[in-house]
Amino acid sequence: MTQTTAPPPTAPIPALAILGLPVHALDMTAALDAMDGFVRTGTPHHIVTADASMLVMAQDDAELRAIIAQADLVTPDSVGVLWAAKRLGHALPERVSGVEIVEQLCARSASKNYRLYFFGASAGIAEQAAARMQAKYPGAHIVGTRSGFFTDGDVPAIVADIRASRADVVCVALGIPKQEKWIAAHKYELGASVLIGVGGTLDVLSGNTRRAPRLFQAARLEWLWRVLTNPRKLSKVKLLPRFVRLVRQNPSF
Ligand code: UDP
Repeated sequence: MTQTTAPPPTAPIPALAILGLPVHALDMTAALDAMDGFVRTGTPHHIVTADASMLVMAQDDAELRAIIAQADLVTPDSVGVLWAAKRLGHALPERVSGVEIVEQLCARSASKNYRLYFFGASAGIAEQAAARMQAKYPGAHIVGTRSGFFTDGDVPAIVADIRASRADVVCVALGIPKQEKWIAAHKYELGASVLIGVGGTLDVLSGNTRRAPRLFQAARLEWLWRVLTNPRKLSKVKLLPRFVRLVRQNPSF
């Protein structure tokens, strides 16, 4: 984005502590406004979309814990996180998910001049997601794409490609915690102002995540269908009982 005026000072966003980690108390509109402010600064900011599985993983992963603690914005990205916040006496208005953030940034891209880069998922998925977003939001600037399967030797070329794209926003879809660690390691090399870990977002935006059969949809059990058909989701769901137990014992410690 071409900056024409000095960025306004941004007010600090209130944060709760859930399982010892910050989660910012804000809705989608406030999250998008915060990101708008980050883009205007022209300096790198890390946005974490936190679900219950991430907060549990961070209990045993000091590197992930430090990254979340230092992130510029941590959004509440699951009903589990909303439930934990409520137990702490803070009714958060809504989930602020990676999929919705990326879609809203695409919707704003033309008018705000945001340049987005999609990095992650299997071969061809980021390109399909970019094509669908550009068709849905005419004028959206998706300035680069790269699949998320790579070797250490590919990293300098990936970093150079993102930098050369002059993206303002880099959506990193490598799964938790790989995407958070990748962003932390390369944040200052990419030339972008917003670096956001978005999990399976590109699969969804590309139209490749199969919807559940009608029966599951009618019973509001789409989540169950996804768990049953995606082994990675199953491993995440297995972390939920520990999340509930930890929150019940001592939600904010
Ligand atoms: N992925 C990737 N590189 C990897 C591992 C995973 O690009 O080395 C992608 C995978 O194809 C999928 C996304 O990362 O698009 C992970 O999606 P998931 O919904 O499992 O993410 P999470 O639940 O961890 O947020």
